[in-house]
Amino acid sequence: MYVPSMDEQTPVMDERTLVILSDVHANLEALVSVAADIRARYPDSAVVSLGDVVGYGPQPDECVDLIREMGADSVMGNHEQGLINIIYLQRFNQPAQDALRFTREHLSKENFQWCISRPKALVRDGMRFVHGMPPDSVRTYLWTYAERMADAFVLFSERICFVGHTHEVHCYALAGGTAEEKKLPEAGLVLDPSARYLINVGAVGQPRGADSRAAYLAYDSGSGRLTCHRVEYDIDKTAQLIRASGLHRAFADRLYGTP
Ligand code: ZN
Repeated sequence: MYVPSMDEQTPVMDERTLVILSDVHANLEALVSVAADIRARYPDSAVVSLGDVVGYGPQPDECVDLIREMGADSVMGNHEQGLINIIYLQRFNQPAQDALRFTREHLSKENFQWCISRPKALVRDGMRFVHGMPPDSVRTYLWTYAERMADAFVLFSERICFVGHTHEVHCYALAGGTAEEKKLPEAGLVLDPSARYLINVGAVGQPRGADSRAAYLAYDSGSGRLTCHRVEYDIDKTAQLIRASGLHRAFADRLYGTP
């Protein structure tokens, strides 16, 4: 069980910090605020994006540009996959399909190619990165394993796997064959070196739950500390752009938080 210790203050900032973000969903206001927060807190960090940079939101091309400028290693989300062909597109409901058609029209040729050529998973420094669930599913949700979370750890061999897709933040630890959800306190959680972890990083641009702020995680491999950051941004601006773009109103309403 996790016990906070006295030395748990603000995160140690060094070049080993890895920033993991997901589900930007073409929300440039949120991504700009998150990028500024990352620059200020972790100027030398490496960034990994877990997919769904596009879809639902009004500024897909600008968001892909910024993710690329940030030098983020990026895996494919189901919304990038939905751009590949009609078969993948038809897996979405009508409003999401309409948003992907809008996305297609608003992506430069180069950014479109970038989206559809993302790998389904990345492995780096003993960690796996995937949009949905390991080993490389862009569509399976973490919560499908809610009642049998230990089984999810059979799907990957690395010590830590980071996933997106649900737009929620969760941290599951496997120790002694039992999976347990760990809370992420504001000061961060120091991961147990003898445990394995499956970590859901939340969403930058389409939050779920009451907290409407953009979320991202930072992991310091030196100290083992995992920290969740929540960043305020101009929600009204994105919501107005969504409505003005003719995208479904629900994509704007959801930005204010969901029950
Ligand atoms: Zn998503």
